[in-house]
Amino acid sequence: MAFPEAIRSIYKSELAGIRDAGIFKEERIICAPQNSEIEVEFPIGAAKQKVINMCANNYLGLSSHPDVVEAARKGLDHRGYGMSSVRFICGTQDIHKELEQKLTTFLGTEDTILFPSCMDANAGVFEAVLTDQDVMIADRLVHASIVDGMRLCKAMTDTFKHSDMAHLEEKLQLHEKARVKLIITDGSFSMDGDLAKLDKIVELAEKYGALVFVDDSHASGFIGKTGRGTHEQCGVMGKIDIITTTLGKALGGASGGCVSGRRELVEMCRQKARPYLFSNTIPPVVVSGAIRVLEIISKTTERRDKLEKNTIFWRKGLTEAGLIIKEGETPIVPVMLFNAKLSQDFARDLYAEGIYAVGFFFPVVPKGQARIRTQLSAAHEMHHLEKALAAFTKVGGKYDILHKTKQEIIDKYGM
Ligand SMILES: *Cc1c(COP(=O)(O)O)cnc(C)c1O
Repeated sequence: MAFPEAIRSIYKSELAGIRDAGIFKEERIICAPQNSEIEVEFPIGAAKQKVINMCANNYLGLSSHPDVVEAARKGLDHRGYGMSSVRFICGTQDIHKELEQKLTTFLGTEDTILFPSCMDANAGVFEAVLTDQDVMIADRLVHASIVDGMRLCKAMTDTFKHSDMAHLEEKLQLHEKARVKLIITDGSFSMDGDLAKLDKIVELAEKYGALVFVDDSHASGFIGKTGRGTHEQCGVMGKIDIITTTLGKALGGASGGCVSGRRELVEMCRQKARPYLFSNTIPPVVVSGAIRVLEIISKTTERRDKLEKNTIFWRKGLTEAGLIIKEGETPIVPVMLFNAKLSQDFARDLYAEGIYAVGFFFPVVPKGQARIRTQLSAAHEMHHLEKALAAFTKVGGKYDILHKTKQEIIDKYGM
């Protein structure tokens, strides 16, 4: 049967509404491996342009690293292309167990279980370990995948104001009687680039007998002295009960995620987590690449050190140029523009200067907090960053926002 015109028109008008609201997401086509310099076709059909990539999660520059590609190729040769199974039927190879062991060692936990993605890890973990006698107390800015995972779980839900420890303590008191109290937070928050106060959170957890869950997707591999994550940075390694993270960002950037933490909680996931039980195994090629990634970053901190240097240079450069950034220490550096249209115009002009960065505005960030989020990589060389800095300065000058206060920019462009 044909797709009835009456039904098609429902979706046509909904899509038109998204366009009219100015929040239609256009994809840009990269015609090269993911790296600090890429070839992009945008808009579709336009001539390809070489640009510097300032918006990938390729923090350690390992997405196209020759050693990782080589290891992945070997995985393909030795263990094949697909598993055609979920883990518990016949989808577990020796290399899956090896990767889980390596993640456990790297993260400093008791055990680890792989998931097809971190989205899936978050979708499965809460339901697997909590019941309706328990409570989840989440930071209000946690990642969308955590919000979805909490929806799938029967435990009571509560939240605390972003990084507000007094508010968290109030909530812990309120829920004192719950069987299990799980405090839920991102380690590194992806929109502002700030870190959770994990030392304080662990202190409160110990005081009230609660457990701590951290999604460290934007931290694993590079935050902390040896890149173990936010728990290392905050001095609480071994004290986080559940860590979820992704292989899709710093750790090679392909795909896959995991739940790592207390042995019994990980085992509960193996028994009960639905995305683990009912979705296919990570393919051997990705597993082999990820094993190599962990070997590389366990041997030397060279790449996270270079990322840290790049981050310091970039934050200092933007600030001296007179742009307003969100203070912090992570390689997520939001350049604040406040006005949604300005963020789009700014990004378009950067692109014309050969710099690829994306403007974010409501509903991705709160109203009046539009920005361009830049992300550093160990794959950036100084000349990339100097060129990008020159472009930000030029475009900032064009819009006359350099060395202006937030209020001056808002007065000029509106919220
Ligand atoms: C990117 C991200 C995820 C999703 O990771 P995938 O492995 O791509 O599904 C989950 N949580 C956070 C905090 C993230 O930043």
